[in-house]
Amino acid sequence: MVIEGVAEQSNLNRLSVFGIDIDNITMQQAINWIINRSKREGKSVVSFVNAHNLNQVVTKSEYRRSILRSDLILPDGSGVKIASVMNGVDLKENVNGTDMLPLLCDAISSEAIPVYLLGAKQGVAEAMARKLKIQYKNLNIVGCEHGYFPKQETGDVIARINRSGAKILLVAMGTPHQEIWIDRFKLILQPTVIIGVGGLFDFYSGRIPRAPIWFRDWGCEWVWRLLQEPERMWRRYLLGNPLFLFRIFLMTLKRGSRNVKYN
Ligand code: UDP
Repeated sequence: MVIEGVAEQSNLNRLSVFGIDIDNITMQQAINWIINRSKREGKSVVSFVNAHNLNQVVTKSEYRRSILRSDLILPDGSGVKIASVMNGVDLKENVNGTDMLPLLCDAISSEAIPVYLLGAKQGVAEAMARKLKIQYKNLNIVGCEHGYFPKQETGDVIARINRSGAKILLVAMGTPHQEIWIDRFKLILQPTVIIGVGGLFDFYSGRIPRAPIWFRDWGCEWVWRLLQEPERMWRRYLLGNPLFLFRIFLMTLKRGSRNVKYN
């Protein structure tokens, strides 16, 4: 990905994890990129990757292909930060969807860019839209719907999105489903920027409370999520986090031995 106005990234600024090149940019650069792309012809896909997603990149080939075809891949959470430190990369910022949303809403409301919300359980996208409209009076949300439609209704869902005139589509159907769905249908979807946002609607609608700021500052948001939904999250975090660290350790070891060999 090329960021306008930013010099070519040096090797020290390039983070590659399990074969995925993560864009090492700031939150503001990511937002500028999204806004610029939304005004252009063509299609741009934005994906976020955290430790859980990167574990899935290793084991799920269709998901891996979808991520590799994304135009912007953003570093989300402490797992990616740890990977960057172990690889001597200076990661500019934790660019996650939940922190991005208010800034993105600010930008798209001042530019009057129409946005569509697809995903989460029945009524959640609508609840989030209502909350956002109170905060951002000029935000142009042109449609909302849940993410539990049967496969045979996909055509109708896409037709509604296309008729809405949305330029930005937020898809909150969970990883890897949302990334695979976006990759499969992006060419017939009209919005120019499509962003996979995971559980974002659950947080912004108030369905699931977000971690207090000090949890987030300590890089422990995952502990909060585990406490909120232990049955769904224990595998992801209690097994997934050590597995991710082990994979990162192996990756760093392999890179180190390759460097020794060729230096
Ligand atoms: N979801 C959906 N359709 C599905 C499965 C899940 O819309 O078929 C929604 C679910 O209600 C939740 C989000 O996708 O709002 C997944 O949240 P999670 O925090 O698990 O996202 P992840 O971190 O896995 O991307």
